[in-house]
Amino acid sequence: MTALTRKLRLIMELRREGVTDHTVLAAIERTPRDAFLPLTFKARAYENTALPIGHGQTISQPFVVAMMTQALQLNDRMKVLEIGTGSGYQAAVLSLLATEVYAVERIRGLLDRARANLRPLRLPNVRLKLADGSLGLPEAAPFDSIVVAAAAVGLPPALKEQLASGGRLIIPVGGAEQRLLLIERQGNTFRETWCEAVRFVPLIAGTD
Ligand code: SAH
Repeated sequence: MTALTRKLRLIMELRREGVTDHTVLAAIERTPRDAFLPLTFKARAYENTALPIGHGQTISQPFVVAMMTQALQLNDRMKVLEIGTGSGYQAAVLSLLATEVYAVERIRGLLDRARANLRPLRLPNVRLKLADGSLGLPEAAPFDSIVVAAAAVGLPPALKEQLASGGRLIIPVGGAEQRLLLIERQGNTFRETWCEAVRFVPLIAGTD
């Protein structure tokens, strides 16, 4: 099976599992996931599964990337913050749907590799930074959307503060058992909706 066939199969699978937003499906289709994987896992890039990227971390499952991105309801006027850049894959997907993407990562080795992975794709609207994302990114706040790619025990207060009014934030919450939590802000009202069960690596304070 060619890479293209595998990719189209993945898109059909995401559709069947409930990804209905065509702009999100198109962004996943346009993003070469193999470019974000170590050599040993490139052949499995279009499997609907999380895969190791080194430093004990993983690239998220395409279904989860798609569901989280869909929940944000992005458009090309929005500024997004991603916490947990990892390989840079989700940042690349987000860059096709938003005007500006800020992505922060706490492990320097991963951030350097994410930068190298993204460079050949020439996505001028992605900015990467080594930082503890549980503090958000105050210098670029407020954000229209915030996506957290690591599981927290609760919503870090800084992220709530840095979300713009009318904005949406999605974060996996829990320990051994986790669920996606969607927060929608209107002024000082925060509406919470619990979504799918997921499995993410933990959100860890500090940088290395
Ligand atoms: N979105 C990534 C997958 C991320 S895996 C991708 O598409 O490949 C989760 C990442 O979150 C890991 O790289 C981990 O180092 C990072 N992380 C964990 N806690 C963090 C924190 N407090 N600040 C920033 N990054 C963090």
